[in-house]
Amino acid sequence: MFDKVLIACRGEVALRIHRACREMGIKTAAVHSTADADAMHVRLADEAICIGPPAASQSYLNIPAVISAAEITDADAIHPGYGFLSENAHFAEIVAAHGFAFIGPKAEHIRLMGDKIAAKDAMRKHGVPVVPGSEGALSSDAEAHRLAREIGYPVLAKASAGGGGRGMKVAMEESELSEAMATARAEAKAAFGDDALYLEKLLQRPRHIEMQVLADSAGNVVHLGERDCSLQRRHQKVLEEAPSPALNADARNQLGATVSAAIGELGYLNAGTIEFLYEDGAFYFIEMNTRLQVEHPITEMITGIDIVRAQLRIAHGAPLDFGQDDVSFSGHAIECRINAENPRTFVPAPGRISDYHPPGGLGVRVDSGLYSGYAVPPHYDSLISKLIVHGSTRNECLMRLRRALEEYVIGGLETTIPLHQALVTNGDFVNGSYDIHWLESFIDAAS
Ligand code: ADP
Repeated sequence: MFDKVLIACRGEVALRIHRACREMGIKTAAVHSTADADAMHVRLADEAICIGPPAASQSYLNIPAVISAAEITDADAIHPGYGFLSENAHFAEIVAAHGFAFIGPKAEHIRLMGDKIAAKDAMRKHGVPVVPGSEGALSSDAEAHRLAREIGYPVLAKASAGGGGRGMKVAMEESELSEAMATARAEAKAAFGDDALYLEKLLQRPRHIEMQVLADSAGNVVHLGERDCSLQRRHQKVLEEAPSPALNADARNQLGATVSAAIGELGYLNAGTIEFLYEDGAFYFIEMNTRLQVEHPITEMITGIDIVRAQLRIAHGAPLDFGQDDVSFSGHAIECRINAENPRTFVPAPGRISDYHPPGGLGVRVDSGLYSGYAVPPHYDSLISKLIVHGSTRNECLMRLRRALEEYVIGGLETTIPLHQALVTNGDFVNGSYDIHWLESFIDAAS
């Protein structure tokens, strides 16, 4: 196994990676910006190197600084976490060229899935159902109009280089299409420097359901079931659960088998998540994330499999130490993403934590680097904690989640805990009857 891993990210996921390394007897080296010198994972790591000022472009995204830190600390592998350089194929190549192991997929697959048009094409070729729409990039407005008439309105113009919900515009009818395309194109050009667009049928009331996979270098692929991430605000996930209240074992096994076969044929390596929209009993691929995901703990809670440990083992060349038949699903898990934000306006609320008391007890897990006296810096994502709860049934999980949210004290700044408290007592949510638009209406109704 690796002797030392460089953790090239920040926040709760950096701590998550440190924890897996510790349990495997692997030493850790943290990199941090000047704004993160007091972060919990920086304190706990065996070594820590400051790689630059607060701006991510000059620290966490600074490839030469990250590589230098790996050289200086004599690390043998780099874990990119999520965000920052985690889906940068060029970074994965540079890591390998410098003789370090990249704890993630092959650069070719990061590149493939980063190009959403190519990703959809590849999935379609390997038997995965995709959203009806253009095959390849749109060459002209006229082509878009022709195609949209064929698949039927409403349609969605999407940026091939898109991410985080940017570069996506709806056209409800023909008269709106040209403007939707122009806006999506401009947004994509500004955000990603690439204005290639494709067209998709807009599904009206889908759920967002994604499959977690692990693949090793011997060609073994297993899926760890699905996560339902339909509760989103502005295309950002807020609360996730596994299993999905909308799927039965047959649907799960069928989707899992389709996905595993495609991932095997692609020769994919390490952890990945294949995202689908699910409507009227049918799945439609939208994108694949070639990295560890924020919501991975709910899968760990129902399978008992440590996904980061598996990532480390795979990157070291070890075969998976379990097969598909060894994966069993037990009970129900829900994750609440707790952000340092006003719970009504969602305006970021960085600041110093005055008091801190995380919930505990059976089935409660808190992935967070918070502690009393810690100052949440204003420079990064506002996610400060993930509260993950497991129960033997969905109902038990909900009861436990309610009491855990009640216990959780994060003093000194505003958090989205009140939003989660309102959510977990809402009738629609309790019944599991929601789609990707439900949360926004719930928030609008509450304000
Ligand atoms: P990004 O990479 O920007 O996150 P995705 O393709 O994953 O883009 O889409 C983000 C979200 O947008 C999805 O989770 C879903 O809520 C919505 N979405 C994407 N494609 C469609 C579609 N064809 N119909 C309806 N909603 C969609």
